[in-house]
Amino acid sequence: MSLPEQALSLLQSIFGYEHFRGRQAEIVAHVAGGGDALVLMPTGGGKSLCFQIPALLRDGCAVVVSPLIALMQDQVEGLHQLGIDAAFLNSTQTLDETREVERRFMAGTLKLLYVAPERLLTPRFLGLLESGPVSLFAIDEAHCVSQWGHDFRPEYIGLSLLHERFPQVPRIALTATADAATRAEIVQRLALEDAAQFVSSFDRPNIRYRIVEKDNARKQLLAFIEREHEGDAGIVYCLSRKRVEDTAQFLCDNGIAALPYHAGMAAELRARNQQRFLREDGIVMVATIAFGMGIDKPDVRFVAHIDLPKSLEGYYQETGRAGRDGLPSSAWLAYGLNDVMQLKEMIEGGQAPGAQKQVERQKLNAMLGLAETVACRRQVILNYFGEASQPCGNCDNCLTPPKTWDATEAARKALSCVFRTGQRFGAGHIIDVLLGKSTDKVKQHFHDQVSTFGIGSDLSEAGWRSVLRQLLAAGFLQTEPEFGGLQLTDTARPLLRGELALHLRGLPEKTRDKRGSDKK
Ligand code: ADP
Ligand code: ZN
Repeated sequence: MSLPEQALSLLQSIFGYEHFRGRQAEIVAHVAGGGDALVLMPTGGGKSLCFQIPALLRDGCAVVVSPLIALMQDQVEGLHQLGIDAAFLNSTQTLDETREVERRFMAGTLKLLYVAPERLLTPRFLGLLESGPVSLFAIDEAHCVSQWGHDFRPEYIGLSLLHERFPQVPRIALTATADAATRAEIVQRLALEDAAQFVSSFDRPNIRYRIVEKDNARKQLLAFIEREHEGDAGIVYCLSRKRVEDTAQFLCDNGIAALPYHAGMAAELRARNQQRFLREDGIVMVATIAFGMGIDKPDVRFVAHIDLPKSLEGYYQETGRAGRDGLPSSAWLAYGLNDVMQLKEMIEGGQAPGAQKQVERQKLNAMLGLAETVACRRQVILNYFGEASQPCGNCDNCLTPPKTWDATEAARKALSCVFRTGQRFGAGHIIDVLLGKSTDKVKQHFHDQVSTFGIGSDLSEAGWRSVLRQLLAAGFLQTEPEFGGLQLTDTARPLLRGELALHLRGLPEKTRDKRGSDKK
């Protein structure tokens, strides 16, 4: 039998699948034949088989580098159920357990060995590998090597040494997240210049994307679940642990089977909640982004975000956990002015070095671009990953093209109010001044005397929040590092001088109300 025939036969007899998906067959043949590979496939695309089948086809044991203990355990358990000899080494094991795994490795019976990178790089382990049969190295979640990636892990950097120490052993690096810069960095850091690149389409056509303006996130979430996903399994992502707890409680109080998950919970309870999510039907997991990597549940019907993710890569990876079975699923995100302010402040006020901040800013900007776009969401996402596409017909903007309005005048008012009040106040205060509210703070700073006091009564507070949010997202405004007050950027000038027209999403509330009553 030829290699491809053997591969197909293993796929059917051991894994129980009829056909390879996408580019799996090519990748398997290439790696089983001893070639290096870089595999880019969206979450749920079927990356694991790309190294598991070559591991079975080659002599010796495949060493799989993986960043998460939970993920290793799941994969090893799955392989055992298929009758494959696999094991992992990590810090939770006793010395005896470790020795037993090492013995199986040396004896040549073990086919797959999962390790964390820091373990792999110890002299003891490298010594073991040099004296035993290694069939290939698989580097899972390879974007962790990239400082450009959204999930940088310093331990991954050391993996470049594999190429030097084991030049004859094929290596396959896999990731679900890679814009062009991240991809280039993976190639360079892991010395994969000569590796074949297998780039799959990142499109997940069965996922419908929707991004709504935040008003009361929890209520909006509840309405979304009740209206469209009653009884479905789903994941709700929140930024903080507290918000996870509160939101899970709120959903439970409203009759939804929700469970919390975050890194601050006791390990046992976390594991129990994860098991329930995987085994029971219709559980909604409310979680921080600590949840999800390596979770393989095919029938997750929706992924909701009630806080804005920090990067488009993160967003796409998280939403990619919906609909792995190919059935219609939703990605739903609610976001508002506070999200933008908060994330910008976290970057500007953070401790990261300048270059890192610049990376974080660009990543957030890409995410904001997606949130504010009036074009097809899928096109924006795929374009970010370097893939050209047509409007999809399966996102909110395609299904209900958003209304835009001429916000040039409103933007000028907002910007000049920020300027007149000294460029150091937050959005709430700016809006009070625009609306002409004589709050204590307004009086204390004599902002009832500035020329922009009360010039914004044609819009509601919500309308102004929407304007400020979009000005921030588009980079006309920024938050200053120390106290997070709003400041103008250089690009604001032409707008302020009336040399630039600006159209924004959504009609501001008051205008809408007026229209409504006009009709009556
Ligand atoms: P990824 O690591 O890319 O997110 P996985 O390797 O976990 O994806 O695979 C996702 C799901 O697709 C798993 O349930 C897996 O068993 C299934 N799968 C992978 N390849 C195939 C195939 N050729 N045919 C059917 N199902 C597959
Ligand atoms: Zn679309």
